[in-house]
Amino acid sequence: MPRIAYVNGRYVPHAQASVHVEDRGFQFADSIYEVIALMNGRLADEEGHLDRLERSLSELRIALPMPRKSIRIVMRELVRRNRLKNGSIYMQVTRGQAQRDFKFPKGISPSFVMIVYNATYDTEARKKAVKKVVTVPDLRWKRRDIKSTALLPQVLAKQAAADKGAYEAWMIDDDGYISEGSSSNAWIVDGKGNLVTRPTANNRILKGVTRNALQALCKREKIKIIERAFTAKEAYKAKEAFTSSATALIAPVGEIDGHKIGNGKCGKITAKLFDLYMDYARDNPPPQQERWNPK
Ligand code: PMP
Repeated sequence: MPRIAYVNGRYVPHAQASVHVEDRGFQFADSIYEVIALMNGRLADEEGHLDRLERSLSELRIALPMPRKSIRIVMRELVRRNRLKNGSIYMQVTRGQAQRDFKFPKGISPSFVMIVYNATYDTEARKKAVKKVVTVPDLRWKRRDIKSTALLPQVLAKQAAADKGAYEAWMIDDDGYISEGSSSNAWIVDGKGNLVTRPTANNRILKGVTRNALQALCKREKIKIIERAFTAKEAYKAKEAFTSSATALIAPVGEIDGHKIGNGKCGKITAKLFDLYMDYARDNPPPQQERWNPK
C-alpha cells in the first residue's frame, strides 16, 4: 500500500508530494508546523496542537488554510488512507507561493501539507531507553513561542548531540540557563525533590502541548511544579531529568554532559508522570468527537 500525503487539497502518493520552489516555506521558512501523535487510532492532545497552530499562524499573520473542523477531517482521512494506527501526523502551513520578495505578497493563499509517520508507543520500553543529553548554546531568535519551521539552530543542536552519541541537546540561553531541548521541553527533579521546568513567559521557549498536559495532570494529582529556569550545573546534580514532547512523550534522561543523573535509570517521578500522561493521551477523548476507528 503506497504511503499517502496531503498537499493543498489533494491526497497524493508520498513520492509525488511536493510544493513549488517559490513556496515561501522553502525560501524563507515563512511557515508554521505541528506534530500530533496518533495512539491506537486516536490523536493525542489534538485540540491543544490545533490551538497552537492557530496561534502561531496568527502571530505571523498567515491565514488558517481551512476551518479547524476541516483540518480534523483531513487528518482523519489521511490516517484512514494510510491505515495508520500508531504514529504521528506532521502538518505544515506556509504563507504560500509567490515570486521571491521579503514582504508579504498580496492575493496568495497558504500552502498546507500533511505527512504521516509510523511509530510504536511502548511505555515500558521507552522507560528503559534512558537518554543521554548534551548542552549547546541556544542560537535561536527571540520568538521561540512560535512553532516556525526556521529550525536551523535546532538542526545544529541535534546534530551536535548525535555527534556525541546523545539523543537530545538542551540549549543554554545567553543568561546561562537551559531554555529547552532542541525538540522538547526540559524538566528536572531538583536536589530537594521538586519538579522543575522553565516558565514559558517572555516567549523564550515553546509552550509544549505535552508540557501543558503534564501541568494539568500534576494539578489534578496535587504534584507541585516549580516553574523556574535552571542551569546545566544544577541539572548535573538533579535527582531525575526528562524531556517532554508530542512524539518522544516523556523521555527519561540518565546522563547530561557525561554526568550521571540519579542512578542513571528512569526516575520514580518521571515514571509516574509518564504513566499519567499515557493514560490521559490514550483515554481522554478530545471534546466534541468520537473515538476514531482507523479500520
Ligand atoms: N520545545 C521545542 C523547541 C520543540 O520543538 C518541541 C516539539 N515540538 C517542544 C518543546 C515540545 O512541544 P510539544 O509537547 O507540543 O511537542
